[in-house]
Amino acid sequence: MSWALDERLSSLKAYVPGEQPKPGQYIKLNTNEFPYAPAQNVAEAAAEAVINMNLYSDLNCTSLREEFKRVFSYGDKNVIFTNGSDEGLYLSFLAFCGKNSGVAFADITYGFYSVYADLCGIEKEIIPLADDFRIIPEDYYNLNKTIFIANPNAPTGLKLTHDQLDEILSKNESIVVVDEAYVDFSADGSCAKLLKKHKNLVVIGTFSKSRGMAGARLGYVISNEEIIEDLEKVKYSINPYNVNSLTQAVGTAVLKNNDYYLECISKICKTRVDFSNQLVDLGFSVIPSETNFVFAKHPDYSGELISEELRKNGVLIRHFGNERIKDYVRITIGTEEQMNTVIEILKEIVGGQK
Ligand SMILES: *Cc1c(COP(=O)(O)O)cnc(C)c1O
Repeated sequence: MSWALDERLSSLKAYVPGEQPKPGQYIKLNTNEFPYAPAQNVAEAAAEAVINMNLYSDLNCTSLREEFKRVFSYGDKNVIFTNGSDEGLYLSFLAFCGKNSGVAFADITYGFYSVYADLCGIEKEIIPLADDFRIIPEDYYNLNKTIFIANPNAPTGLKLTHDQLDEILSKNESIVVVDEAYVDFSADGSCAKLLKKHKNLVVIGTFSKSRGMAGARLGYVISNEEIIEDLEKVKYSINPYNVNSLTQAVGTAVLKNNDYYLECISKICKTRVDFSNQLVDLGFSVIPSETNFVFAKHPDYSGELISEELRKNGVLIRHFGNERIKDYVRITIGTEEQMNTVIEILKEIVGGQK
């Protein structure tokens, strides 16, 4: 900490991202990235965008917005694109979390909520998950604070139903932000259809996990016109050109090839089921996942040990030190081949088939 840092930030604990080694060094299953190559034409679209990168990017993301509307049925004034969904979250903290009202979110959830609250000086109400790691919807009734819910949640992989979200939205007048980073891997899809009924719903999504664009940084927020206008105002006060032109071109090309990505998503979901079953055969308890990762623990081997041993064998996964979840490991679902390799290594670590 230097003498120059503002006192207000001296105790701030920054977000700790998963390790990002040189590509190819590990089987990388620690940050829930997409394991497949980009669709055809995507690289070409990027190369073409380079030709015009001397110009500032399109403030409205026009082509991307059109393609997005074709694929997801929301566009026009109901969507704002962001530099990763992290930026959508940050804009929401800035726009909707006044100092007096505060924010509420789960004790085990995406680590950035707490960091943004602290950065913005917003009071936090931290709501413990149930013993089985489920969110208890009633805990979120009548809070009248800005609520952040990752649905499906990370790192647990569990989700609330749309009916449960509907109830939480009805029982609060304040904004409820639903972070749908993993929604493409879950059975019942986006809760954005509840926008018709609730003016306090803000849905946040990303191209990082299901569209293979983690490194290109593209996210989005879907809500009603009024809310999107608020977010635009904050965006224009920070970084109007928040989505660069290469990313816009790549995002557009990715959506033009949406069928390819849907195929990859269904392969990942199938691999998830196979991998989960194999983990169970090795003695793990596995939380049924609605995401592109599994959260699992072994009765005889600590999360830390499993994580270290996998690393020694060239596989990176995520282990969290937090007391409540320290026995668990979070493993991203990669290709079928990668997951078969992981199972072979795990057999060595936990002593073969039971
Ligand atoms: C990965 C993740 C994000 C951030 O995604 P980016 O779009 O890459 O910024 C947001 N929320 C949750 C719950 C995530 O797991």
